[in-house]
Amino acid sequence: MSDPRQRLPAVSRLLAEAERAGLLEQAPRGVVVAAIRQVVGEVRDGTACEPEGGWLDAVREAIGRQMRPSLRPVINATGVVLHTNLGRAPLARRARQAAQTALGYSSLEYDLDEGVRGSRQTHVRRLLQELTGAESALVTTNAAAALLLLVDTLAAGGETIVSRGELVEIGGSFRLPEILSKASTVLHEVGTTNRTRLKDYALAVNPRTRLILKVHRSNFALTGFVTEANLEDLVGLGAERRIPVAYDLGSGLLVSLAEFGLEGEPLVRDAVRSGATTVFSGDKLMGGPQAGILLGSSDIVSRAAANPLSRALRPDKLTLAALEATLMLYRDREQALAEVPVLRMLTADGAALRERAARLAEAVPGAELTDGASVVGGGSFPDARLPTTLVSLTTADCEKLLQVLRQHDPPVIARIDDGRVVLDPRTIDDSEIPLVIEALRGALE
Ligand SMILES: *Cc1c(COP(=O)(O)O)cnc(C)c1O
Repeated sequence: MSDPRQRLPAVSRLLAEAERAGLLEQAPRGVVVAAIRQVVGEVRDGTACEPEGGWLDAVREAIGRQMRPSLRPVINATGVVLHTNLGRAPLARRARQAAQTALGYSSLEYDLDEGVRGSRQTHVRRLLQELTGAESALVTTNAAAALLLLVDTLAAGGETIVSRGELVEIGGSFRLPEILSKASTVLHEVGTTNRTRLKDYALAVNPRTRLILKVHRSNFALTGFVTEANLEDLVGLGAERRIPVAYDLGSGLLVSLAEFGLEGEPLVRDAVRSGATTVFSGDKLMGGPQAGILLGSSDIVSRAAANPLSRALRPDKLTLAALEATLMLYRDREQALAEVPVLRMLTADGAALRERAARLAEAVPGAELTDGASVVGGGSFPDARLPTTLVSLTTADCEKLLQVLRQHDPPVIARIDDGRVVLDPRTIDDSEIPLVIEALRGALE
């Protein structure tokens, strides 16, 4: 038997062929050479067979893979609205356009009236004041950064009181005690896992206390024998002892969704009204770009802004443009519900979801409709199960089907439920339906 490795083509020969086929116009020479080495190398060490369609085609494909961006748009068919691995909140159309316009020169830190240096924070500060009732506001790269900045500003070198029931881990390495230690404050734990009373905080206050911090238990629920101090009482205690109170509320819901059956997430406005300095994420329930939003008194916000850390944690121009456009939508509640994708998906009605699922299922042989549930994700409304209609596919190898769908362009991300591959129309945009049908038909062939 002849060893197939002896028949491997020389790199130089394939390069000449690639040049004749015009591949050097599609990619830099270095990339073409790397693609050739990869294709030949894989056959040499037995990880791939000799390409059936010929070497040149294999090289063309390898070049395609190397030239493709790594960060790519995908279709979220999981029904998890705030899917952290898929970039959390998809932006509203106007927010996308705004980010686009900020790509060139912009008035980022320029006061157009006076022709002098301005602050990048002014573009969103007034809107945040208007929409939340806060006296002042500051935006950072994300909520973890806003919390770090706030605690470092108010409590470095002193103690921060936190309930043992609120020492949360959010995921992606956000653990509250670790953030606090990075802000050089000493964590003073009070209460127990399930019960913490106002009195526990009151007894813990001492001359080293700089801050009382309340944290929303976003991604889990405590039920049963449970007590927690409410925010108003904590702010009262803080006022009495002259200690600032901060509230990390996580998701940042700007409009109530109670009428859609979504209850339990604190509203930003209520948090601000309590008098606590409030911190939340821009890309969770608010449905904007990744950002951290800090709302509080002018005094606390200016101290945070003057902290050298704020320079390291400041948001970029694309974020600010997208955030401003997102916030503008919230001036009209109905417009926010219709145009902020996160809100639109969370409040989609059952009939519309069923219709979208049916359109998908009709076009795909073997697909069936089943009742199911979508989840909010992003650590918000952890108990909520939103009724939906799933498109479900029976197959011998679910993992394999998921993988093939991921290899489609654009990749389609589905999930497994009860031994079947399912797609949830809640997170699929109408405009994406033809692409999903194409991906499913191809994958099932
Ligand atoms: C999500 C979350 C954070 C972190 O927010 P990022 O914007 O991802 O940094 C912090 N605290 C709570 C309570 C959260 O839910």
